[in-house]
Amino acid sequence: MPVTSASELSLASERSGFECRRCGRCCQYEVLFTHDDIKRMESHTSGAHPTGFLMTKSMTLEGSRSSLITKENGKSECLFLEGRSCSIHDSKPLLCKMYPFFPVPSGVIERAVGPIPDAVKVRSERNGAGYYMSYHANCPGVGNAPRVDWQLILRMWEQYEQEMVAKG
Ligand code: SF4
Ligand code: SF4
Repeated sequence: MPVTSASELSLASERSGFECRRCGRCCQYEVLFTHDDIKRMESHTSGAHPTGFLMTKSMTLEGSRSSLITKENGKSECLFLEGRSCSIHDSKPLLCKMYPFFPVPSGVIERAVGPIPDAVKVRSERNGAGYYMSYHANCPGVGNAPRVDWQLILRMWEQYEQEMVAKG
């Protein structure tokens, strides 16, 4: 799951479906993950992978609750990529689960360009805040494909935000 820049994001429309093409492209980026992500990965891998390395890396980022899965396995890809598949699919970091989608606060966009009728706009079940759904344009899986559960994407994003600020 990548760290993105705004210029790489496109807004999703109601016609935007998603089906992973298993190109492995997104697993060649850095991944921002939470400490709870690490715990989930640890429980899944049972020591088979060097998640202790990930914890070490995360602790080196002063004041941050997140870090990066860097590609220090000698290849320019995630430690957990096997072939073109994620070997920890059920326990992968939240941002990997959401990928290629990201919510963007609708107020930010609407203040700049006004409402965008064709774009997917989702309201938080927690606080009613509105978000447009964007996606990483480099992912070939977005298009004429099965429908996306936008509320689920937003719930994962809210969980990610909570875990990022959680003390512990
Ligand atoms: S870039 Fe998109 S299609 Fe390719 S592996 Fe990642 S999620 Fe799947
Ligand atoms: S955890 Fe899985 S989905 Fe995420 S970057 Fe690594 S291999 Fe890809």
